[in-house]
Amino acid sequence: MALVVLVIQRRSIVTICLLLIWLAVFGVVWAQLLPTRKLVVIDPGHGGIDGGTSGGGLVEKDINLRMGHILRGVLENNNYKVVMTRTDDSDVTHFVPKVGSRYQRDLKGRVKLTEKAQPCGLISLHVNWHKEAWRRGAIVYYQAGEKSGLMLAELIQKELNTIQETQRQARAADFYVLRNTDVPGVLVEIGFISNPDDRRAMQDHNWLARQAEAIMNGLEIFLQQRTPM
Ligand SMILES: [Zn+2]
Repeated sequence: MALVVLVIQRRSIVTICLLLIWLAVFGVVWAQLLPTRKLVVIDPGHGGIDGGTSGGGLVEKDINLRMGHILRGVLENNNYKVVMTRTDDSDVTHFVPKVGSRYQRDLKGRVKLTEKAQPCGLISLHVNWHKEAWRRGAIVYYQAGEKSGLMLAELIQKELNTIQETQRQARAADFYVLRNTDVPGVLVEIGFISNPDDRRAMQDHNWLARQAEAIMNGLEIFLQQRTPM
């Protein structure tokens, strides 16, 4: 009797072990077949006591945040993973030691989050202002000397030019967050808060959603060209 129980137990153990091995192999194969969800960092500029620019009763930080949430939705619906440097009306100082000014800590916080995430793209969102109210349209900036940033900026600029009916060029600049992150990054000024038409558009959810789709389209082309299938 004892011998029979022993045999049955040994058989059960062998069966369980085989099942576990099969599950492990199946899991690994399945994970390989699933498309990798690409990670993007969205960085809505300013926040908290730092409102950024303003005009016509609108404050830049609010538009950046709203645009950030809309872009996040568009990207997540298209199989991207998203990390946002801020999701509410706060700055990004709480990730770094309390050394230096609030402004410096805010920028360092954005860099730290981006470096930790190691995304395939960093998109900082801002709004422009100019004393000449006729100026309008999105401008995409990249860190001077960074080839991948230039490529990403040109592709997003092209998409935004199409839907905004502008003919702008991506511009080189020197921004702390772009300079100090080792990922393809751009800073998108979605329009001019000083221009009445742009300002009206920025308050329109559907308009913001179209800009978000244009940004994603530029990013998609960038990723396809960088890593051809
Ligand atoms: Zn700004």
